[in-house]
Amino acid sequence: MANALFCCLKSELRLKSSLMAEKQRDLKKVFDQHVELEDFFTGFSIKKDKPAQQLQPQNNDVQKQLDEIAKEVDACRKCDLGSLRTHSVSGEGNPHAQIVFVGEGPGENEDLQGRPFVGRAGQLLDRIIAAMGLKRGDVYICNIIKCRPPGNRDPRPEEIISCLPFLKRQLELIRPKIIVALGAPAAKTLLSTNKPIGQLRGKFQDYYLEDFSSPIKLMPTFHPAYLLRNYSHETRMKVWEDMKTVLTELGLPVPESKN
Ligand code: URA
Repeated sequence: MANALFCCLKSELRLKSSLMAEKQRDLKKVFDQHVELEDFFTGFSIKKDKPAQQLQPQNNDVQKQLDEIAKEVDACRKCDLGSLRTHSVSGEGNPHAQIVFVGEGPGENEDLQGRPFVGRAGQLLDRIIAAMGLKRGDVYICNIIKCRPPGNRDPRPEEIISCLPFLKRQLELIRPKIIVALGAPAAKTLLSTNKPIGQLRGKFQDYYLEDFSSPIKLMPTFHPAYLLRNYSHETRMKVWEDMKTVLTELGLPVPESKN
């Protein structure tokens, strides 16, 4: 039984790596064609000894492209939330952040200000970030859905499905070293799993970008709003343990807890 499962997993892995190799060959073909076209039209070419990563957006373009996404978010009417909210909340922070925090969706304060995590949960998130020895401007903060559901109801599956491509593009652009998924909806959506947050938290999971590049480490942890409702020493310590694991993974100093 275990043998059959192992064989099955092996052949699936083989299939995946041949698909990836094929994708890389295709990318190389596109790049070579691009070089040829450049030669043809202008007489200048991208030097062939420069790797294909030149096709990736340049670093200073990231903020511009994030702004472009924010404009698209603002104009989006793929679901009803677009016409019910006050402001869309695309996300904010360092476009080259090593850590991206992903929450569920804007609440009342976020809707009024057009900024993520600015209410009570946001103030707690700020304190968590400060406890990590970081500033809010060092990280990027965004949500699964970009418009506030009326009365703060849970986002509906179809709303999440229509909004998710925006978040995926943001992650694709920022390419952080670590994603911190705040709460069950963010963790479950990004990992396509139904496991409870209590089971997921504390251990790094893999988040796969669309381009098959190496997965990004994702740390699920409790949402600050959950922490506010359950402000026990135990839940606080769990979140702090998760953040210490993140800092250690990044090779950053781990501040001593004062509690
Ligand atoms: N809760 C979230 O999940 N996101 C916010 O931006 C604010 C509160």
